[in-house]
Amino acid sequence: MGKASKDKRDIYYRKAKEEGWRARSAFKLLQIDQEFNIFHGVKRVVDLCAAPGSWSQVLSRNLYVPAKQSPDCKEGDLPLIVAIDLQPMAPIEGVIQVQGDITNARTAEVVIRHFDGCKADLVVCDGAPDVTGLHDMDEFVQSQLILAALTIVTHVLKVGGKFVAKIFRGKDTSLLYCQLKLFFSQVTFAKPKSSRNSSIEAFAVCENYSPPEGFKEEDLYHLLEKVGTPSGADDLDCRSGWLEGPNKVYIPFLACGDLSGYDSDRSYPLPSTEGGSYRSLDPVQPPIAPPYKTALEMKKASSHGASADTVRPSADS
Ligand code: SAM
Repeated sequence: MGKASKDKRDIYYRKAKEEGWRARSAFKLLQIDQEFNIFHGVKRVVDLCAAPGSWSQVLSRNLYVPAKQSPDCKEGDLPLIVAIDLQPMAPIEGVIQVQGDITNARTAEVVIRHFDGCKADLVVCDGAPDVTGLHDMDEFVQSQLILAALTIVTHVLKVGGKFVAKIFRGKDTSLLYCQLKLFFSQVTFAKPKSSRNSSIEAFAVCENYSPPEGFKEEDLYHLLEKVGTPSGADDLDCRSGWLEGPNKVYIPFLACGDLSGYDSDRSYPLPSTEGGSYRSLDPVQPPIAPPYKTALEMKKASSHGASADTVRPSADS
């Protein structure tokens, strides 16, 4: 599929390039903020699974750049944005990058060190494993990423802080909701307009971080294990009211973004067909070391007549 046809098929892909975002995902975070005002009063933020960096760009443009341009803002008062990913990403103004695996305790320690004893106001996580297409498997791996993100949250987020995480909707959605509800007084599952209806992704927007009384960070695993068993959830009485009634849990699910705005499942005509001349734009910032680089090199080499097994993988694969 050519660039122009993707421009036509996907309005948010096209708009992302026009507005200088590295990925169309930028609109998802912007639309979540429109609905939940998650950036309000935020000074310190962690962006987990950040590459290629469009969420970090949103954070930079909404928090760092305005503060830097304000005459009243002193150097030490500038917002702190720490971004982590397995992949390296091109620099973004005001964003500190950490390359690492969020499921690795050492990565969490590096992030915590950047905060130098202070706590974050907001943690966002758009992490996604390589999707296999097997929904149960994808949902399981995704839930492991959320668990890793939640572990980092319990170490860096201030009481009252917010956490936004990508989830895959599936049969365990209500279990995940219960787990998150242990730590946040308000949890909503949101589907931004820019997220395709055909995609099972949604976002957990968790507000007012308030870990259960007596909670120790190292207890996280035991607590989640307990909720993870069929009878375990009944044993927990951390928050009165939320596990009562025949349905146990009612999950608030909310669409966000301007509902009269662009629909990510529709095709829109290119501006050229409306009278102007349309030029398809290049990506704003292609990934600097994508995991599919070796595959592309092998494909290129084989289309030039070389046999695939004569191609050496690149040094960073
Ligand atoms: N929010 C990003 C943006 O707006 O540009 C897009 C994130 S992309 C959908 C998912 C990212 O999750 C990938 O860059 C991938 O490398 C990262 N990821 C997956 N598993 C990870 C892990 N265990 N640790 C760190 N990053 C991970």
